[in-house]
Order: sequence, then structure tokens, then C-alpha cells
Amino acid sequence: KQQEELSIEALVSSLREGNRKALAQSITLVESKAHHHRQKAQELVQGILPYTGSSIRIGITGVPGAGKSTWIEAFGKLLIKQQMKIAVLAIDPSSSLSGGSILGDKTRMEQLSHHPDVFVRPSPAAGTLGGVHRMTRETILLCEAAGYDVIIVETVGVGQSEGMVRGMVDFFLLLALTGGGDDLQGMKRGILELVDAIVINKADGDNRDKALTARGDYRGLLHYLKPATPGWNPSAYAASAFTGEGIEEVWNVINRFVKETKESGAFENRRSSQALDWMEQMIMDRLYEEFIQKEGRKDQLAILKEEVLRGKLLPTEAAAKLFS
Ligand code: GDP
Repeated sequence: KQQEELSIEALVSSLREGNRKALAQSITLVESKAHHHRQKAQELVQGILPYTGSSIRIGITGVPGAGKSTWIEAFGKLLIKQQMKIAVLAIDPSSSLSGGSILGDKTRMEQLSHHPDVFVRPSPAAGTLGGVHRMTRETILLCEAAGYDVIIVETVGVGQSEGMVRGMVDFFLLLALTGGGDDLQGMKRGILELVDAIVINKADGDNRDKALTARGDYRGLLHYLKPATPGWNPSAYAASAFTGEGIEEVWNVINRFVKETKESGAFENRRSSQALDWMEQMIMDRLYEEFIQKEGRKDQLAILKEEVLRGKLLPTEAAAKLFS
């Protein structure tokens, strides 16, 4: 196929020219599970490494229906006006769990995805969490080498996806909603400790006043939590993707965050520790892969899981048996 014919060198140089086809091809290579592709992919990522790191990496999370895709569309349009190139990547752990996808439908970000300065990539198809992690990290690097200034990693708050995205971005944003007033109780506390900002979305029409009240509640709550980024106090904002109100304010907040954390060193510190976490994750993933590939292991694992589920075996014992 065409991909095999292309030399890595040629791919690197068309990537650096911002060629979209080369970018799409590169991502396909990075996402490929074929063994001989893995080696090529490593070579490619190694080759572009010197040209990476200069983007702002933003994570966005929120429940389905929070308005993520609409919001990213409005936010993206603002950035395009400032001559920026934007990549939007998705992490959808539900696709590896259920085979279906919450984020993957094609109608999302309809206008943005057709813009020449925007690259939208759906979540890599089903794989291990470690696999999805690696593919997305490498895709971020590929987009940076292709000249994208802002990389948005979008996820739904399912399972471990939020922690995973926090571990690969500079700035992490939660899109929240106002509702019956019990939103704060319903909120997973853990997520608040990961965020650099909360945006109360859909602050328009009848909902605007409620959104402003919720903003105050969230600010109060954030005040008592340990900040996710040393030296940065996360705050809450209200915005509407429909009216555009508040969107630019969030962009200004992000720029202030980048400036301040670069000055304090927190920005670089985070990127360094993320690189180490990534390495660790890759070791764990590889260990697991090699372990599970061994003759008969998968069957043994299935049997042991069954026994744990039926209460016949303690998880600790089951794990020990796998190693005996
Ligand atoms: P996602 O699942 O988080 O990506 O949410 P969507 O972007 O698909 O939006 C879910 C619903 O909320 C859609 O019907 C949108 O039209 C609506 N919506 C999104 N943003 C806004 C907003 O700023 N104001 C209002 N009133 N509705 C919005």
C-alpha cells in the first residue's frame, strides 16, 4: 500500500510542511497494531521529536450533552480568527469497553472539521487503555510537528479517561452544566482536583442567571481544594457556545496560565513528569502484553476471573496463581 512505499524521511518532511494527508497517514501508522508498523511508527515519532512541544495542549471533559463539541466549535472559530491552527483529538474509553462510541459520530464539529486550519481526529478504535494512551500521545506530537498551535484533547468523563487526559495536557478544563441545583453534589469530587478551570456552559437565555450562580458556587468549592497545577488557582467561568459570551475570556485565562506557569517553571515540570509517566505506562503496557501472550494465559485468566466473580477465590490469590 501507499503507506508502506513512503519512506519515513519523506513522511517527516511532508508532515513538517503541514501536509494533512501526511498527517492522517502518520496517525494511521501510529494507530496500527501490526508489528512491522510499530517499528516504523517509532522511527517516525523519533524523527519528528525535535519539532514537537511548542503547542498549547488543552484537555476538555464533561458529561455527554455538556456541549463539548459545540463549545470546541465556538472556541476553535475564535482561534482560527487569530491565525492559529487547531487539532482536535478525542479519547473515548467507552469504545474499548462497549465497542460503541460516545464521541465518534461524524456530525460533530461539522463546520470546524472542514476548515483548512483545523484537524479533527476521532478516538483511536478499541484497544487497551495503555494503547489508547500511547496513540494519543504520539498523535499530539505528530500534530505539533505538522504546525498545529493548539491541540485539544476531548474526552467524556468515563472510567479512567479523565486522569489519562490530565496526564497528557498542559491545561485541563471541565465543561459543567447548571441544572436543578444539585449539580455540585452529583459531581464527581475527584474531577475537581484535576482541573485548571471550570466553565459553566449554556449560560444563555433563561439559564444565564443560574449559570452565574453556579459559577459562584464552583468558585467557592475550588477555593478549598488543592490546585492541580502548583501556583495556579483554578476558577470557574460562565460561557455560551450559542451567544459566544465568555469564550474569549476562557482563552485569555489559558494564555495567562501558560505565561505564569512558564515563568514559574510549573509548565516545564509538568511536561517532564508527563514524559516519565508515559514511559512508565509503556513499560506496564508492554509487561502486560508479554505476560498475557504466553501460552494458555488468557484461558487461565478467564477461569480465574470467573472464580473471583463467584466468590470462590480472592483477587490476591487469583493474581498469585497467574504468576505461579
Ligand atoms: P457534547 O455531548 O458534550 O459534545 O454536547 P453537544 O455539543 O453535542 O451539545 C449537546 C446539546 O446542547 C446540543 O443540543 C446543543 O445544541 C446544546 N448546546 C451546546 N452548547 C450550548 C449552549 O451554549 N447553549 C445552549 N442553550 N445549548 C447548547
